[in-house]
Amino acid sequence: MSLYEQKTAFDHHSNMEIITSRKAMRVLTSDLKSKGRKIGFVPTMGALHEGHLSLVHKARAENDVVVVSIFVNPTQFCPNEDFAKYPRDLGADQALLTPFVDYLFYPSVAEMYGESHEEFVVGSSSGNATGNFLSFAVGDLGKCLCGLSRPQHFEGVALVLSKLLNIIQPDRVYMGQKDFQQTVVVKHLIEELFFETELVVCPTIREENGLAMSSRNVYLTAEEREKAAFIYRALQQGKKLVESGQKDPKKIIAGVKVFLSEHGFDKIDYVDLRKGSSLQEVLEVESEKNGKIVLALAVFLGKTRLIDNLLIF
Ligand code: AMP
Repeated sequence: MSLYEQKTAFDHHSNMEIITSRKAMRVLTSDLKSKGRKIGFVPTMGALHEGHLSLVHKARAENDVVVVSIFVNPTQFCPNEDFAKYPRDLGADQALLTPFVDYLFYPSVAEMYGESHEEFVVGSSSGNATGNFLSFAVGDLGKCLCGLSRPQHFEGVALVLSKLLNIIQPDRVYMGQKDFQQTVVVKHLIEELFFETELVVCPTIREENGLAMSSRNVYLTAEEREKAAFIYRALQQGKKLVESGQKDPKKIIAGVKVFLSEHGFDKIDYVDLRKGSSLQEVLEVESEKNGKIVLALAVFLGKTRLIDNLLIF
């Protein structure tokens, strides 16, 4: 079904309410919980596409009430990144969500970070720059893969997710495998801070040519979009190497890099193989056969940084 068909098929369903105040959101979710309603929550930064909607559909199927948040979270952007120009289109997002969602939580930066947020420095590692005292550390989980070129990104993710989970108190939270490292950080956050919520990781939704859907794909030119199809093919190439018996992570990583450069990628941020649960380095592929291994990469097309990953087992 196309998005339009899905939307019209369900048009009878809902009157999505937009809530901007955290207090109002909390009162509402406490009330729902006291009535025993199960709450499914999908955190997003907006500029929604079918990848986001797949999470919403799963949340709809598994819960009584669906809450989506749209919040472009400044603390997860580094100073040189696209916080100011990150795509924002509330009207389009609302139209996509309305048929399926009960509540859209849409707070301002001040609502999430306090009134002194004007002093906020994007990418600052210090919680004090936001007018708050707390900041997070995610340890080794943030020191590999995307964490290397995006210092403080996962700390910002952990901080905002803690705030959102505390406000919304969902029974389940839905996140995409596309941001694999993020799911691992959030899994640990939930476990270690005892949030009473279950993390549901949903598969990556792709364009027909294999490109993982992303809000940042709007930055790509038509030519770059075509080239971007080779990202997924590069991951599949890596998986094939494993399937044909290659056990050495270095050789697999090198094979993927060669494939990418042969297809015109001259700026590769990283290609890496990591253990799925801890993100620790994989020394030999064979020895990990009982656990998950993720082959993950980030590349630049022009100024746009794109990420993708594939589970090897
Ligand atoms: P974002 O708005 O980029 O912060 O993404 C919000 C949520 O949607 C995250 O849990 C993402 O992993 C998920 N997501 C983004 N793109 C996709 C996709 N192509 N397939 C599945 N989930 C996705």
